[in-house]
Amino acid sequence: MMTTPEFRFLRFTPAELEDSPPLASSLQAFETSLELVSLARYPAALLACVNAWESALKAAFQIPESDWKANLRTLLMKADDRITPCEWWSPARNLILREKRNQITHYGYTPKDTDACATLLLEVGYPGLACLYEQLFDFPLMRQQLGDFPRTSGSPSTSDFDKVGLISQWGDPLWLALDQFQRHQATQNLAPTWFFHPLASALRLGFQKSWTSPAENEALVLAESDGILCEQQEQVRRQVVRQMSDCQTTLFCPICDTADTFLIEFDEDALDDGPMTTKWCFCVACHFSLPSAAGFLIPALVTEDLFPHWQALRVDCGLE
Ligand SMILES: [Zn+2]
Repeated sequence: MMTTPEFRFLRFTPAELEDSPPLASSLQAFETSLELVSLARYPAALLACVNAWESALKAAFQIPESDWKANLRTLLMKADDRITPCEWWSPARNLILREKRNQITHYGYTPKDTDACATLLLEVGYPGLACLYEQLFDFPLMRQQLGDFPRTSGSPSTSDFDKVGLISQWGDPLWLALDQFQRHQATQNLAPTWFFHPLASALRLGFQKSWTSPAENEALVLAESDGILCEQQEQVRRQVVRQMSDCQTTLFCPICDTADTFLIEFDEDALDDGPMTTKWCFCVACHFSLPSAAGFLIPALVTEDLFPHWQALRVDCGLE
């Protein structure tokens, strides 16, 4: 009996999937790559991501099973003829990705490859994969591609949204990682792995929910109904608030979707004459946080505009 592949992070798959096993393999490799990012195994995630490229290109060019060893260099040359160059598709950068894949495949990797591989994933691996899915299969991975992706005309329609691949719980933080990296990559001393923190946390939270045993679930429900969970969160909140200045606010957590749990600290020194600067965040429910040096990611991460909160603090301090 024929069975269809199942996916964990995808809400939609392209129509070609049923007739094209390499495309199913590509999407499976992409999901594996995300799982490896959640474990901070960036070199291994890069290998899986390039496998996803290779299989997608085999599907697009209908490479027969007898030619399963078709090499990536040849496939990339074919792709360059079909894909419209854009900021997410660069033949020169694609070759660097391929070289790194070959190096890791044949010689393994060490901790010093972590940053290089995280950078390549942000700069080429995931953007290029999203680009080739979009252009060769009419399959945008992230909903934000509908607005920002170079299109010939018009705004996205409902049917465009229907074919977005990733569930937004994971698509949104992947977009944030790619978009923010592109905006900040020229800034000195930024660790590329910071851009993956929200995505990795959202992925781990998803696993945690599916891996919790019935007994653990029951204990959580009891803790919630007895008020123990709430009490524990309040205790954590008091501890975190003590470490922050008064220049703080509490919002909806974009990682665990819980209201009033996401503590954000602004830079008190900038309150006088701006610009608004976010320093640190911590969720008392899921314990997501960003290193203070990555606090610049907070405005893009939260779902609401931070500026009114900043202004309210300025009013409280008598500055407006
Ligand atoms: Zn949270």
